[in-house]
Amino acid sequence: MAQDRTPAQWQALDAAHLLHPFSNTRQLAERGTRLITRAEGVYLYEADGRQLLDGMSGLWCVALGYGRRELSEAAAKQMNELPYYNSFFQCTTTPAIELAAELAKVTPPQFSRVFFTGSGSESVDTAMRLVRRYWQLEGQPQRNIIIGRTNGYHGSSIAGASLGGMAFMHEQGLLPQPGIAHIGQPYAFERAGTLSDADFGLAAARELETRILQLGPERVAAFIGEPVQGAGGVIIPPDSYWPEIQRICDRYGILLVSDEVICGFGRTGQWFGCQHYGTRPDLMTIAKALSSGYLPIGGVMVGDRVAATLIDKGDDFAHGYTYSGHPVCCAVALENLRILQREHVVDHVREVAAPYLQARWAELAQHPLVGQARGVGLLGALELVRSKQPRQWFEPRGKVGERCRDNAIANGLVMRATADTMIIAPPLVITTAQIDELIAKAWRTLDQTHEQLRSGIF
Ligand SMILES: *Cc1c(COP(=O)(O)O)cnc(C)c1O
Repeated sequence: MAQDRTPAQWQALDAAHLLHPFSNTRQLAERGTRLITRAEGVYLYEADGRQLLDGMSGLWCVALGYGRRELSEAAAKQMNELPYYNSFFQCTTTPAIELAAELAKVTPPQFSRVFFTGSGSESVDTAMRLVRRYWQLEGQPQRNIIIGRTNGYHGSSIAGASLGGMAFMHEQGLLPQPGIAHIGQPYAFERAGTLSDADFGLAAARELETRILQLGPERVAAFIGEPVQGAGGVIIPPDSYWPEIQRICDRYGILLVSDEVICGFGRTGQWFGCQHYGTRPDLMTIAKALSSGYLPIGGVMVGDRVAATLIDKGDDFAHGYTYSGHPVCCAVALENLRILQREHVVDHVREVAAPYLQARWAELAQHPLVGQARGVGLLGALELVRSKQPRQWFEPRGKVGERCRDNAIANGLVMRATADTMIIAPPLVITTAQIDELIAKAWRTLDQTHEQLRSGIF
């Protein structure tokens, strides 16, 4: 750990100077921040040496786990050779070219081009610019409305927060921006009522058609969605959902944008979430696991349909970032992709880790607090409820989830709470023994939370 200050001194300095993402600064200062000083494999270590199993892969990104020397060495090598140059003004760098070519290989066949960004939010911003530019070049500039979903998450920039459907984000920012509409989410546990999952999936997808017809199909440019909603609470759509969304997009000629920032690079057991659900997106936003989070990098995969128009009909695309194609970030991402391939990590997820995790995760549904245990690939969610039959949520929502999350951390497991939905997304390299450890810690956490509820501690 860092030697020159005590953990308490670090916390005080943090409280004095840092504004944390999505945090209540006053409350954070009272509770104190958790100081993570090192990490190895699937484990994090706090300043006092305490070990935590990282059930969230950092923020959904550390696919290969921590401490991969090949990644830090790729960065160091590129730093020494060429730490920075841009891709503007007729210039390029070899890591950006190599990564672009490699991405063309691992993505579905309609993708042979990428636009690099520095993050998921920037990727969503870029996707929005590309969608609108496409329709301009197609001679239909009035086709500019992009449809997203309630409780979708597409990042925290103005564009991302607008396309996302988080009411608490919209409220703070005069959002959404004009030219954006939302439909409901395919959240069966909350919304299906008496419908079967399959019927609910179709009904949720058909909200898109209804909205397109309300707005006028000639005004709708694109639909954007995460294959599985991550930050919204690991909302897994019924299998009937995405094929129906694809049918509707095709029928009205609107572009489909798959936000693969979480699902991309193996999370579902396929390389991309759209392959798991069988859609053919026109654009894919990528980030997070692209570099296993070791350095910030994102991108938009641009499908043939959009690329052809952009290139054949367009002149300059007036958009780009200082760090688009940053050579060090690209070198790390390239090495990350090579390891994913060399070590057959996506096969490990599909054939070993995901089936095992899902079988063991499903056992948690027997716990009296758990109204549903769901998952796909290496994603999992638990719905905490006051009563299973008839179903009753806790009031106010979110308090029990927060307590459960704190208990998890006390038990050495990083699990996240979205209201009263507990979620996990462990590193893709997790072993079955580590999955057993994760499940045991989750059981203990649920038991403790249940006990605290019964004894009226909160
Ligand atoms: C995290 C996330 C983003 C935003 O990525 P940042 O790198 O945090 O800007 C966008 N879309 C999805 C689906 C995400 O999970």
